[in-house]
Amino acid sequence: MNEFSLIKRYFADASYVRKDVLVGIGDDAAVTKTPENQMLATTTDTLVQGVHFLPNSTPQDIAHKAIAVNMSDLAAMGAEPSWISLSMSVPELDEEWLQGFSEKLKQLTEYYSIQLIGGDTVKGPLSITITAQGFVPEQSILTRSGAKNGDWLFVTGTLGDAGAGLDILKHDLNVEDYEDKQFLINRHRRPSPRVIAGTVLRRLATSCIDVSDGLLQDVMHIANTSDVGVIINLDKLPISGALGRNVADLEQALTYACISGDDYELLFTVPEEHRTTVQTALDSYSVPYTCIGQMTGATGKLDLRLDEEPFEFKEPYAKGYQHF
Ligand code: ADP
Ligand code: MG
Repeated sequence: MNEFSLIKRYFADASYVRKDVLVGIGDDAAVTKTPENQMLATTTDTLVQGVHFLPNSTPQDIAHKAIAVNMSDLAAMGAEPSWISLSMSVPELDEEWLQGFSEKLKQLTEYYSIQLIGGDTVKGPLSITITAQGFVPEQSILTRSGAKNGDWLFVTGTLGDAGAGLDILKHDLNVEDYEDKQFLINRHRRPSPRVIAGTVLRRLATSCIDVSDGLLQDVMHIANTSDVGVIINLDKLPISGALGRNVADLEQALTYACISGDDYELLFTVPEEHRTTVQTALDSYSVPYTCIGQMTGATGKLDLRLDEEPFEFKEPYAKGYQHF
């Protein structure tokens, strides 16, 4: 099998099919149609073995994560996903691996109603790059930069589970209970990006970001680009039962929630006048959310509180995941 038969066998049909794709896989470039009055959002993410996934990850896990991280970025912009491209570097022609990867890919393109429209396949160390695109009406683009003094800070879902899941896999955290263990590992391996929540928040949230590098690091992206400060009430952070039950103490749970990454929840700010509307809208889609703090006028200042008192982590923890 060569590069061309590989693409034909594993990727040419590995996708949900959309009407707005005029030319898909097989030509020199894909050609697509963007709906009138909609803007195109584009994002890309690379997953490298040993950096973004452990060497024993299954091809299904890798496909899931590669798509999920990109869907999460689109969600954070309020965009509705439409197309993906896949560039992959693989060390060898492992048919079982490619089969598992492409089957999962197909399943996910169906789940998100997105079409795989092209890519590139080369030989080299295992690495997967997905570029995803989606639509967002011009007036509804959600960015990091619109938060205002006084806005409420919300987050979807629970925080810290993925970090704990990774630590379980690395044998840095011991969890006896089978279900808790599987839940946490699954949150690391198979994140569920908040695509619907992202579209619900259009025009209601003043800013939005997905939590990929840890709450504290990501909230500061909002604060810094919006020229505001932030108070976070640590006692309000949404901690899952599985995480809470299996850490030594509250501080360890808070550390996971604040510093570890890969949760792929949405963090967003809401002005008082939209608070009830946002809550009702998220409730109607059964999206869990929590108000964890408020934006302030103290530009760039992060103010952590526990039960109303100022709080500092005992250890000089790093501020979240950084590559360099
Ligand atoms: P070119 O040499 O013109 O770049 P390629 O041989 O790399 O073309 O790719 C042939 C076709 O297959 C193109 O349409 C490309 O987008 C698509 N393609 C290549 N690799 C992948 C992949 N991993 N997933 C999806 N489409 C792919
Ligand atoms: Mg090529």
